Amino acid sequence: MFSYWEQESFIQYDHIVIGAGIVGLSTAIELKQLFPKQRVLVLERGLLPTGASTRNAGFACMGSVTELLDDLEHTDEAGVVRLFEWRKNGLELLRNRLGDNNIGYKENGSYELISDGELDALNRLDYLNKLLLPITGKASFKMADGEIANTGFSKKYTKALIENTCEGELHSGMMMRSLTDMAISKGVEIKTGADVLKFEEQQDNVHVYLRDPFRNETSVLQCCTLSICTNAFTKKLLPYVDVEPGRGQVLITHPIPGLKFKGIYHFDKGYYYFRVIAGRVLLGGGRNLDFKTENTTDFALNEMIQADLVQKLHTIILPDTSFSIDTSWTGIMAFGAHKFPVVQSFSPRVFGAFRMGGMGVALGSEAARKLVAIIAETY
Ligand SMILES: Cc1cc2nc3c(=O)[nH]c(=O)nc-3n(C[C@H](O)[C@H](O)[C@H](O)COP(=O)(O)OP(=O)(O)OC[C@H]3O[C@@H](n4cnc5c(N)ncnc54)[C@H](O)[C@@H]3O)c2cc1C
Repeated sequence: MFSYWEQESFIQYDHIVIGAGIVGLSTAIELKQLFPKQRVLVLERGLLPTGASTRNAGFACMGSVTELLDDLEHTDEAGVVRLFEWRKNGLELLRNRLGDNNIGYKENGSYELISDGELDALNRLDYLNKLLLPITGKASFKMADGEIANTGFSKKYTKALIENTCEGELHSGMMMRSLTDMAISKGVEIKTGADVLKFEEQQDNVHVYLRDPFRNETSVLQCCTLSICTNAFTKKLLPYVDVEPGRGQVLITHPIPGLKFKGIYHFDKGYYYFRVIAGRVLLGGGRNLDFKTENTTDFALNEMIQADLVQKLHTIILPDTSFSIDTSWTGIMAFGAHKFPVVQSFSPRVFGAFRMGGMGVALGSEAARKLVAIIAETY
């Protein structure tokens, strides 16, 4: 039961956003910019954001050659180009909003390792460059075979190297810290440990039900608009939407003296990705080895995939270098029948932006911008 004072000051909001990942925080910032006098509250179930945004690889990525060619097998050209444009716009928005220094943004180069079975992809570089030219204004992909010898990667695996001129890398922790600081500085309220159980639309507002572990009761907050930015966890609140969780496994080595390469790298249609950060190698991926087990919102490690990642370090990335693993973790992505995020209204008061796939760093800010444009039209 709320006190009189709590009822007066803590229950009613103009806008509530569920989820403090990149999409939720960006949505809250956009809402506060649009409605500076209105109260905007972010509800996050974890002590920290607990999904993908603080657990990813920090690639400011637009899509590798084999990944885009794979997308073209399932989506028409216009769809692939439109999604590429979203990523480009999202990345620009993120960089402009927070500043490169505050998110550790760097362009140390982005490359794709091409294996024997993928050499056909090299014949499609000109085609992809032409397709994406109206968005990028430059050739997105260039051959970089001359670099292979400098990297120390397995020559048995790496038959070619493609440079992607549109991608960069960032520090996901700095990015999320800066986004949180910016939201607070603009007057957004953030409550952590706030697990939303359900919502109910009323005639004039939306009731948001939360578990309050200390009071051992369910609390109800009220808002004029509700934005659901819960990515892989959205089915709990909107059971009928097309969202499937996809767990991602990551590991990081201890610092390795004299590393021969820097920048970000993809291979196997983007299913594996690695980068250098603070003299260490961060490697993630392998979901394609065990889609069924990884279709989960449970954060547990998958020992088989973790072992495969270590094996990939030994055989492909660091074949002649000794290393040791510092730590491993997982994060949960969200996928659906196609790669486009869901950004829409579900009623005049309930909105959602979720299903960011494996590219929410680039997509997230643009998804939030589009969501708030829909709210502004409707509200
Ligand atoms: C291992 C891994 C590597 C990745 N690498 C990259 C990369 O290099 N580049 C890239 O662009 N993308 C990458 N991604 C994807 C990217 O991180 C995501 O697309 C993006 O972070 C999604 O942001 P979001 O805000 O939609 O979701 P999330 O960050 O998952 O945020 C959703 C939030 O909602 C909260 N929440 C959920 N349900 C509730 C509830 N009922 N009540 C209250 N709060 C709730 C969660 O705790 C969570 O904090 C990676 C993802 C993973 C897992």
